[in-house]
Amino acid sequence: MTLPSLSLAFVILLSLPSTYVRAEPAEPLWSLVQRERPALVDTLRALVDIESGSRDLDGLDRIATQIGSRLAALGARVEYYEPTPTEIVRLHDTPASVSKVVIGRFNGKGTRKIMLLAHMDTVYARGTLAARPFKIMGNRAYGPGIADAKGGIAVILHSLSVLRTLGFHDYGTLTVVVNGDEEISSPASRALIQRLGAEHDVVLSCEPPLSRRDEIALATSGIGLATLTIKGKAAHAGVNPELGSNAILELAHRLLQLNDLSDPARRIKFNWTLAKGGQVRNMIPDHASAIADVRVNRLSDLEDVEQRYRARVMAQRPLIAGTSIEVGFEYRRAPLQATEASRALARTAQAIYAEIGRTLSVDESGNGGGTDAAFAAASGLPAVAESFALIGFGFHSSEEEYVELDSIEPRLYLLTRLITELSINPARQ
Ligand SMILES: [Zn+2]
Repeated sequence: MTLPSLSLAFVILLSLPSTYVRAEPAEPLWSLVQRERPALVDTLRALVDIESGSRDLDGLDRIATQIGSRLAALGARVEYYEPTPTEIVRLHDTPASVSKVVIGRFNGKGTRKIMLLAHMDTVYARGTLAARPFKIMGNRAYGPGIADAKGGIAVILHSLSVLRTLGFHDYGTLTVVVNGDEEISSPASRALIQRLGAEHDVVLSCEPPLSRRDEIALATSGIGLATLTIKGKAAHAGVNPELGSNAILELAHRLLQLNDLSDPARRIKFNWTLAKGGQVRNMIPDHASAIADVRVNRLSDLEDVEQRYRARVMAQRPLIAGTSIEVGFEYRRAPLQATEASRALARTAQAIYAEIGRTLSVDESGNGGGTDAAFAAASGLPAVAESFALIGFGFHSSEEEYVELDSIEPRLYLLTRLITELSINPARQ
């Protein structure tokens, strides 16, 4: 251990109440966690082997059944919740049919209400698995969706398994929520997650850490989506182009004026990421559209960006006569912000990590990713923390996605021990 990390550990230990500092791991929990590793790896393989892209309802049904049966075998009352049409938010890319949500409920003899959240859908289309099957190489297990967030589901299932072996029932309720539309911004499950979040004291969300560090997060980004649609007039590009109104040119003209809506000081990011226009080579295009991805750290910033965006477009003058413009702005995700309650929760998590001689980083920066933790926190009632899954890399990319096998024991210990600590020690949020 280097000097700086020694002094950091010293500061962390000093800031904790003395009765809380343990010199060693809680037993028999730590031994049980270590014994669980091979079974957890088997679960990773089983989950990866069912392809479950957000639009693959057949695959989502199969993985939901597998997760539901596992929860039932662990003693949960299982519900497959079908979101009602009225609670589904229709975003521009929301499919006609959406996944159900697996809910597993455990009743204990205590009072604390704890919710564990993860998602079973992935960003990958059917067929990806054939090209990148599950495999283990050294300290890494590879597979589509293995880090984001099948590793989270595996940690939850095996944490429950350890609690069952321990005979631990000191929580009030323990609710597992696994949705299948996270990667398309949870249009169908967000209302349910919000509702269930409000019924719990604590929500532990099991996405992988966004950085490669061994961390949990108390903040995530809010995500918006700005659209710009230009309607023009089609005409023959060779015979009478002057009769047309070129929608692509008008779009380009507008975008160049709308490229400074980011605000680095407030961590607002506004980037045009998609554009399309025209139909065929020899026709003046009568249609063009673009989409901007917007990231913020505070909900009020999302409202502010929308206002500035709309005002700027209103103030613009068209370049091409005969074109019309339409603007839109979607609220895809609210940001998660740290609270006093979630900071207390994080301190408990850090103390638990110290029991096994590890240092847990806590991210409060909301460094770009958006997750369902924010929906769970929307009521302001529960303490919410994110990123309890395995450490991994390569998600949402063309690289092969993997988890670090050596993160299984510490991460499984962290979640399981946290559930026991939060159940028996309500003062520690
Ligand atoms: Zn995810």
